[in-house]
Amino acid sequence: MQKLVIASNNPGKLREISRILAPLGFEAVPQSVYNVPEAEEPYVTFVENCIAKARHAAHLTGLPALADDSGICVDALGGAPGVYSARYAGEPRSDQRNNEKLIAALVGHSNRRAHYYCVIVYLRHADDPQPIIAEGSWHGEIIDTPRGDGGFGYDPYFWLPELGKTGAELEADVKNGMSHRGQALRVLVERLGLGESSGDNCV
Ligand code: IMP
Repeated sequence: MQKLVIASNNPGKLREISRILAPLGFEAVPQSVYNVPEAEEPYVTFVENCIAKARHAAHLTGLPALADDSGICVDALGGAPGVYSARYAGEPRSDQRNNEKLIAALVGHSNRRAHYYCVIVYLRHADDPQPIIAEGSWHGEIIDTPRGDGGFGYDPYFWLPELGKTGAELEADVKNGMSHRGQALRVLVERLGLGESSGDNCV
């Protein structure tokens, strides 16, 4: 098994990533096992922050590294909250206050289009000039009244017109089958499965 450090300490993400990568010969190890502190995320784009997190973990451990970054981008707000999604309403982080701020920001806007975005970066080593970058987007609309109690974050306000449901009304498997994160993970697995982890046959 090839050890791979995961630049996240979120237990749910770690479980999901470990399960998906094990059949490809990777043993996913959280960065906390190597005492890697959280990286700075100073950039305004998801991909820059994601590369910074993966590089930080690869640099401090000497191992290949994987990081992910995600958030929600609202058309009428120029893509906000974007990379600030988790702490849109400030610290301490609160889904409820984030959602209240989002609904307040959209008062008077008829364009309710929004999408979740996820990027996953795989670095073979800290100086890898050719990271594998896998992305996914999930499109919907922001509604004013929450529905459902599944999911997390902005899901109760994220309306999927084709399903007549919010993200919080979907079974976990259904959400994974459609979501930005599910899409990005499937792209990553496909590319790792093509042997790109060795860096010699990039598409
Ligand atoms: P992170 O990538 O885990 O840091 O997530 C960033 C933030 O984006 C989360 O804290 C949520 O506010 C939001 N977010 C990302 N993905 C989802 C999702 O699938 N549902 C709801 N909110 C999400």
